[in-house]
Amino acid sequence: MSFYIQRLCLFYVSIDIGILQFSSAHNFISIDCGGTRNYTDPQTGFAWVSDTSFTRWGKVAEIKSSNKTREQYQRLRYFPADNKKYCYTLNTVERKRYIVRATFLYGNFDNGDPYPNFQLYLDATRWSTVKITDASRIYIDEMIIRAPSSKIDVCVCDASTGFPFISTLELRPLNVSMYATEYEDDFFLSVAARVNFGAATVEAIRYPDDPYDRIWESDLNKRPNFLVGAAPGTMRINTSKTIEASIREFPPVKVMQTAVIGTKGILTYRLTLDEFPANARAYAYLAEIEDLGYNETRKFTMKQPHIPEYNNAVVNIVENANGSYILYEPSFQNVTLEFVLLFSFEKTPDSTRGPLINAIEINRYVQIIPKTSTQDAAALDALRSISIGTDWMNEGGDACVPAHWSWLDCNSGSPPRITKIFLSGKNLSGEMPSEIKQMDFLTELWLNGNSLTGSIPGLSNLVSLTVLHLENNKLSGHLPSFLGELPNLKELYVQNNLLTGEIPPALLAGKLAFYYDGNPGLTRGRRHEKNFKIIIATSGTLIVCIILLLGFVLLLHIHQRRSSKDSNSARITSKPSTAYSIIRDGSLVRDESLEIACYFTLTELEEATEQFSRKIGQGSFGPVYYGKVKDSKEVAVKILAATSTHGTQQFVNEVTLLSRIHHRNLVPLIGYCEEGNQRILVYEYMHNGTLRDHIHDPIKQKKLDWMSRLYIAEDAAKGLEYLHGGCIPSIIHRDVKTSNILLDIKMRAKVSDFGLSRCTDENRTHISSAARGTVGYLDPEYYGNQQLTERSDVYSFGIVLLELISGRKPISVEDYGSDWNIVHWARSRIRKGAVKSIIDPQLGDNIKIESVWKMAEIAILSVESHMVSRPTMQSVVLAIQDAIKIEKESLEIASWDSSVDLSKSMDMPSSSLDGYDGSHEVLGKYDLPTAR
Ligand code: ATP
Repeated sequence: MSFYIQRLCLFYVSIDIGILQFSSAHNFISIDCGGTRNYTDPQTGFAWVSDTSFTRWGKVAEIKSSNKTREQYQRLRYFPADNKKYCYTLNTVERKRYIVRATFLYGNFDNGDPYPNFQLYLDATRWSTVKITDASRIYIDEMIIRAPSSKIDVCVCDASTGFPFISTLELRPLNVSMYATEYEDDFFLSVAARVNFGAATVEAIRYPDDPYDRIWESDLNKRPNFLVGAAPGTMRINTSKTIEASIREFPPVKVMQTAVIGTKGILTYRLTLDEFPANARAYAYLAEIEDLGYNETRKFTMKQPHIPEYNNAVVNIVENANGSYILYEPSFQNVTLEFVLLFSFEKTPDSTRGPLINAIEINRYVQIIPKTSTQDAAALDALRSISIGTDWMNEGGDACVPAHWSWLDCNSGSPPRITKIFLSGKNLSGEMPSEIKQMDFLTELWLNGNSLTGSIPGLSNLVSLTVLHLENNKLSGHLPSFLGELPNLKELYVQNNLLTGEIPPALLAGKLAFYYDGNPGLTRGRRHEKNFKIIIATSGTLIVCIILLLGFVLLLHIHQRRSSKDSNSARITSKPSTAYSIIRDGSLVRDESLEIACYFTLTELEEATEQFSRKIGQGSFGPVYYGKVKDSKEVAVKILAATSTHGTQQFVNEVTLLSRIHHRNLVPLIGYCEEGNQRILVYEYMHNGTLRDHIHDPIKQKKLDWMSRLYIAEDAAKGLEYLHGGCIPSIIHRDVKTSNILLDIKMRAKVSDFGLSRCTDENRTHISSAARGTVGYLDPEYYGNQQLTERSDVYSFGIVLLELISGRKPISVEDYGSDWNIVHWARSRIRKGAVKSIIDPQLGDNIKIESVWKMAEIAILSVESHMVSRPTMQSVVLAIQDAIKIEKESLEIASWDSSVDLSKSMDMPSSSLDGYDGSHEVLGKYDLPTAR
């Protein structure tokens, strides 16, 4: 936590009195999601509106919780657990500040097991993970924003378990100066804690006590991890006198009228901050509410979090505020805080009274992620305006983020750009909007099968366009000549329109596939007909020559293979498959440039491996040997069992395309050999062997510490994420396990054997069924129903994570007794909260339990028995990165660079005192928000 102390001039006092009255409840927007009627809340006087006019998606459900006291929490709206986003759009005044509040009362509406876990977005910015653990608790997410435009979208999506849902959505305008930060162009503020100390009751204070309807949580609230560890001698005090609190953030008088004091000279608390470590803005709200005697003083310093520059600053509330019963509001503009925040204040030796605190507020900086480029968005609006209103037009939220609309594709640029539009047969009528010309990242445009009229607009800016479908419309006028000049256009379809005039010659030059029949008015110029005939004649001759040449090569090849079966000097010329595309920066490209599989003769491999003399492993495919090929490149040579049913060409094609999949966390396939029955794969050699050996074979390999395990988990997860999301079609590994995660010379982990099942006999299995995989790692749902999806890999990877945490094998009767396998054993312990009992004893005590929790949580989710309940690899990567962040934070504290000039980013105290040792730093080095 980060309050510190500033001699605050009372400059703000006069500014906002009038605006206070302006911000009354009639400016509030209160949406009852799933509500069936509009009504006035008798308790608050707020006008609640049903969400039916805000969304056309989702279903309404009655909740089953006991917490149904208020009408807005009787029902909720829930959405499908698919890859779409579901959004509410709220009108705002651009650059005005607001509190946006979304609340979630699950109430077990669907008897879900496990409970829902999904993402909440504000525009394109990820706001938080909504993770329900208590069905009757109202989860509240608040974001303080300066509205970036005249509308904001609040979206739920990406459920890793259960269905995304929402109970209420509220918009509360703030006055002009409240919560202004110097970073607000780039960052929202997500409310992490707002606590009222010394509260009279457990009920939170909000409207009408707070005219801005903030929620000031009572310090009597006993929810888990909220304000624990109060120091002995902590006493609650209150006053009925009024407090002058109309400064800066305008805390309500009622909040300021209560406080806690440390009668033994110290005040201490601990609280958990979700989504931390992170950078935050933190405020302390202080007012002297005891009548101090003539010689009495209340002076204290902040002991924790220890911030070197401020550890000696002394708070004297009366002096700082210029009197008793007046607000003093010291704050940090920007401080890095931990997941578990410990804070304490201690009286100075010369003070007669202990420290005092009325309220605190901690807001996390959330970087604003750009929405789809405005020029693309304008073109989409124009396209939507020529359609008769249907669902596809109103998918809600931003076109590209957090999930793109179903009828388009985007790249992952910042801002994202639209790359493909699929509007075939969507009832578009009228002229093609000219705004399309602004979409200069467009590669495919499908507008066929509509009723488009008029002429084709100027699209010469669309230099990336490869495919243009305009057929089966009512387009008229000439075919514009720029179409022949678009540098990347490969396919052009304009059939069955009313186009007239001469076809531009460039379109007939054979550079692109061009279809234009069914346009009675279109003509080929004579010159071009002649040219065309010449082209046809020339091409015909050429084709004949090529066929003859190919026949000759083929004959030669067959002859050579027959005559030199043993010498094997002939090379198979592998024809690269085009089945896979590789996604780069979100756009699809066929990556012809990447190295493709190299063919090795058996003789070359015999030389490379010194007659297969150094065996480094044995898999169920066969033995693996060490070798060195040209340029002394070290390789692992894997001999495949000679039972493949694949044909030669199929084997070659598949090896070729696998070798073109490149990622830093995948073991590169360098080449292959295919002679007679012999099939061999050549991989880059991984110096540090398999992860299995590092975890389970202490003789072979030294044990890994926790940080190394986290990095290995991240690497391997990224490799799998790439197979699932970065290749089209996606590749399911099918055999994820610790022996298929190899470690290179720098201990970077790489996944091996991906896609190998494609090159081997479909009947070869590790278990006696048609399911492929290894016992202990095999997804039970896939085993049961043979339906293979990416989530089967997620299951197997969950086992790998459990092995990393526990150091135990997936299956062992000795280790797990009747539990038999690691899943049952770990799950029962984690559910009881006994995560410590599953930690590998070899890891010692020097690890952060929060990072283990993060890993254990995602591991247990990954091994959920039902596929739909498991997270995607992308979510697994994010969770591991969170764990790394937590762990790194504790390591980085030690090496905190004191040269960072924090004075520029904080509201500073001016007084100071020497002699504080500060043993509990919490400052880290996370992406500090940067001022523009
Ligand atoms: P299975 O075939 O049952 O899946 P596996 O994954 O252990 O088991 P292989 O992939 O054939 O089988 O590997 C056998 C062993 O060879 C590995 O355990 C590893 O020790 C070694 N090995 C495989 N590939 C490499 C490589 N690229 N670099 C270094 N060693 C390797």
